[in-house]
Amino acid sequence: MEKKNVLPEQGKSKLELKRYMEPGENYKSEGEDVIFLGYPQTTPHPIAIETYINYIKYNENQVGLFSNSTAKLNMTRDCEKRLIEMLGNLYGDATVDGYVTSGGTEGNIMGVWIGKYYLSASSSDEICVIKTYLSHHSIEKACSLTGIKNIVDVAYNDSYEMDLADLRNTISRFVDSGFKRFIIIATVGYTMTGTSDPVADIDQIIEEWSTNSDVKFYLHVDAAIGGFVYPFCKKEDFAFQYKNVMSLTVDPHKMAYIPYSSGIFLCRKGLTDYIAVPIKYAKTILDRTLISSRNGAMGVVCWVTFNHIGYQGFVEQLSKLIQMKEYLVEKLRKEKLAIIISDPATNMICLHYDFLSDGLLPETIEKKYILDAFKLRYKEKEIVCYKIYIMPHLTKESIRFLIDDLLKLKQIC
Ligand SMILES: *Cc1c(COP(=O)(O)O)cnc(C)c1O
Repeated sequence: MEKKNVLPEQGKSKLELKRYMEPGENYKSEGEDVIFLGYPQTTPHPIAIETYINYIKYNENQVGLFSNSTAKLNMTRDCEKRLIEMLGNLYGDATVDGYVTSGGTEGNIMGVWIGKYYLSASSSDEICVIKTYLSHHSIEKACSLTGIKNIVDVAYNDSYEMDLADLRNTISRFVDSGFKRFIIIATVGYTMTGTSDPVADIDQIIEEWSTNSDVKFYLHVDAAIGGFVYPFCKKEDFAFQYKNVMSLTVDPHKMAYIPYSSGIFLCRKGLTDYIAVPIKYAKTILDRTLISSRNGAMGVVCWVTFNHIGYQGFVEQLSKLIQMKEYLVEKLRKEKLAIIISDPATNMICLHYDFLSDGLLPETIEKKYILDAFKLRYKEKEIVCYKIYIMPHLTKESIRFLIDDLLKLKQIC
């Protein structure tokens, strides 16, 4: 039998490979009628694409951390350093360290990894990670990698935020059983609901414990989604304005119109000391990042794009998206199609189609709109939900398509 997909003995010509080189038809593999609703993904900003193309040919490898560098830096490193300061300013501490990661997962791993050593436990078993059921699964990856087995889900309340009474009880319970070291993960923009944990209150609870006991905390904020939403639509702070927030992750490849893969990890100045490793073959520096070789272009792409959009640009774009969401909400309410879970200030929405007996959409609809079902607790019940992200590629027409499809479905139910 002829083997498929082997490395050819002799290289093929460009002509033979042309159909792979140009996305064209291949890119439409899901069929032409797909309307992308279910994930925070959209076409990158044109200036991001242009900058990326300009830099990719230099293939810059950005190994290490540059936010703390005092040396003269080349363009990609200098831009990354400026970018970290820019986001530090946006999130309440211009002196933070940080770097451009591969995404939110890497930033969450960095947070838990630094947290573990910051809390100076003699074993991972002394550490307890506190989060909610709604937290992103990358936290579990981070715990698995750092050998942390004590992971507790604090309850979430009816607004899909971490329940503060349960957080207090959980800490007390664990302190009573001998724990003194906690990593708390606060999420700003939960992937499934778009809602956020009350960082100010969590900070306050930590403050009370820290002043009255020898219990230690490390608070990491997962703002993978909310980091480029909340600063432009809500006035509340959620980051380094609060003393106990030690690190934060945010994803430019989600809500900031940057190509994959790009996340940004930020932490208080100097905290990367806890995880720094000498590079044997480069005498000058310690590696203070999780992955080693990184794409140097990404920092410039973010720097250029954010400067180009500007604060007001983000505000305007987001308010357009929110208006679009309000249009969707209005239609859903009018036609009584769904129970709506959503933070009104954001472009995210989580829906339960209560006219369907089990809440599940037919596969054709799921595929057409790239929607995936999951379960959430709602008033003592488990319900099937779907999340929708209102991104810049959507139009009122695409929303009307969805409503029409739902109405047709309702008629036959
Ligand atoms: C997407 C997401 C992550 C993981 O980010 P990647 O960029 O996919 O690695 C982490 N946390 C939250 C809340 C997310 O939505």
